[in-house]
Amino acid sequence: MNELVVKQTRLTLVQGDITRQATDAIVNAANSGLMGGGGVDGAIHRAGGPAILEECRQIVARQGRLPAGQAVITTGGNLPAKYVIHTVGPVWHGGTRGEAALLTDAYRNSLKLATEKNLTSISFPSISTGAYGYPVTAAAEVALHTVVSFLQENPASLQQVVFVLFDAATFNAYAAVLEQIAARTSREDAP
Ligand code: ADP
Repeated sequence: MNELVVKQTRLTLVQGDITRQATDAIVNAANSGLMGGGGVDGAIHRAGGPAILEECRQIVARQGRLPAGQAVITTGGNLPAKYVIHTVGPVWHGGTRGEAALLTDAYRNSLKLATEKNLTSISFPSISTGAYGYPVTAAAEVALHTVVSFLQENPASLQQVVFVLFDAATFNAYAAVLEQIAARTSREDAP
């Protein structure tokens, strides 16, 4: 399943490159230094140009390194998206070091920032499942549950949330989890 409507918001899964998304904001799976890196972080800075890195530099000069679970916002530079929300997911250490709570915070704080800025659409990559090693199905459960709960609690906030999954295996894992969530929410909504 690749789409679920939650209250007034369309939650969609697509396979592709997040740097091409024209939502108001795209989310970067950054690291604490905010100075770019590999994976989706490198792709966003390459496509977005130096203005994003310059703002990241100013943020780190002002407030220091960004802890896991937190989020900040910069311009989208040359990207089709107006803003980039940089968040830091947890590094996977086996699941006993608060990884799920930190991943929940990364999604929740990104959504909060978008709604505080009155944005109407946002795209996420699969945070932490690349270099940071978080198992994909477990990460998809956290990601999708967190987004669905946020939209249920904040029904008038966003019009569209997109997960842009880079490879077929990641897309399929998210689609399977979304299917389970859809089955459960439809049971809850039943009269
Ligand atoms: P992390 O360090 O949080 O694990 P990574 O960038 O290493 O972040 O990986 C997170 C996910 O982003 C992986 O599924 C990776 O395949 C994916 N990814 C890499 N490049 C892109 C891109 N251009 N658009 C969307 N997702 C991407």
